[in-house]
Amino acid sequence: DFPWKETIGLTPLETASRILSYFLTDFEEIPGVVERAYRDKFDTPELTPVKKVGKYYVLELFHGPTLAFKDVALSALPVLMSEARKQLKKKENILILTATSGDTGKAAMEGFKDVPGTGIIVFYPYGGVSPVQELQMSTAEGCNVRAAAVRGNFDDTQTGVKQSFGPLGKKLENGGSTVLSSANSINIGRLVPQIAYYFNAYTALVKDGVITAGDEIDFTVPTGNFGDILAGWYAKKMGLPVRRLVCASNKNNVLKNFIDTGVYDKNRPFYRTVSPSMDILVSSNLERLLYDLSDGSCETVKTLMKQLSEDGKYEISSEMLAKLQAGFAGEDTGEEDTVGTIRRVFDETGYLIDTHTAVAFSGAEVYEKDCGAKVPNVILSTASAYKFPDAVAEALGITGEFDAFSVMDEIAKVSSTAAPERLRTLREKNVRFSDVIDISGMSAYVEKALQDGFFGEEA
Ligand SMILES: *Cc1c(COP(=O)(O)O)cnc(C)c1O
Repeated sequence: DFPWKETIGLTPLETASRILSYFLTDFEEIPGVVERAYRDKFDTPELTPVKKVGKYYVLELFHGPTLAFKDVALSALPVLMSEARKQLKKKENILILTATSGDTGKAAMEGFKDVPGTGIIVFYPYGGVSPVQELQMSTAEGCNVRAAAVRGNFDDTQTGVKQSFGPLGKKLENGGSTVLSSANSINIGRLVPQIAYYFNAYTALVKDGVITAGDEIDFTVPTGNFGDILAGWYAKKMGLPVRRLVCASNKNNVLKNFIDTGVYDKNRPFYRTVSPSMDILVSSNLERLLYDLSDGSCETVKTLMKQLSEDGKYEISSEMLAKLQAGFAGEDTGEEDTVGTIRRVFDETGYLIDTHTAVAFSGAEVYEKDCGAKVPNVILSTASAYKFPDAVAEALGITGEFDAFSVMDEIAKVSSTAAPERLRTLREKNVRFSDVIDISGMSAYVEKALQDGFFGEEA
């Protein structure tokens, strides 16, 4: 069992070391790995600080290289992979292929940048990511990174990556010098580093005298693929006194409905919203929760997943539903309320939030009305407001025609906050990757990159 009380008072890096060591028992030198993963990459030594905003506590997860919470895991994963390769004395290079709808791609490129023995190729849908997101990828640095736009939507791109894996993998394997891997959120190496910030947030509240060790708190998590909130569930299972995890959805509210009724039904319209990283109808990581809710019954999970792929729908048993509702609550927020929440929170507190955080904020407010006894609620803030400037500008009443950068300047002026340096300086960077390819050309693109030789040098 995990001695969770010992994490109280530890630094964020120490906590991360404890948690990684607990899960990755074969690994040597975890503290060194953690140090290399996070040193000089985040703009604050606290990594993920907690701020009091109105009556809530906001856990800021956007202080990493790409200003979104995925940096926490994607800073650690490449170092873990590279270290495993070294400890196992493997000689093969690791090639990461990733499809992205925006945030994952750049965070993964930053994480793998110049990591010895690894290389990464990111594919994104042509015209399907925001201009800022595209620039973040096309100007990415590092000898071992590439990005290309693919003619198709995100699903086509993702399918293209999966289809490249088989034949390409075989071919590379036969060559003997390269293995393929992925950086998406079903990789356990992405989940585990995220558990740490739930513990750090708890420590922060103890330190500030808001709670004493042992008191229960709630967390509210803006949710898409169910990775972030699942890390919270694992923290709860490890003993952290979490009463409930509030799963906040946008207009794509399949998870809220699931938590309310026990029926998961993806047969519904798909909406593009102002919180695009949560526009998702099939949350991959939910499968892991189903495993826990069924007391580890692989048979049950298999049956449910079969129903999902055949009918787009399944219903869990009443026992599983009772467990689900004991640990989770679901809320949803529409488009107007999302923008309205950004405005209201700013007017009332002077604190500027992004669209995903706004969905969580509004979810926390609705939840509070019928959650029973009140306990402190920590809202996870998953991105900087400057990453989604159009909706934030609308919330602040900024009108007129602006390009992606001048709108940041306007937001800075109106809100008296500063646009993050890492976004502002994008406009001066060289575009390195401007290829637009067909789905059918993805494998050839990968082989060409390999021929050019781009893996990180051995240290
Ligand atoms: C990915 C993402 C989410 C959703 O996280 P999941 O782990 O997919 O549930 C929320 N907000 C932002 C800004 C994201 O990039």
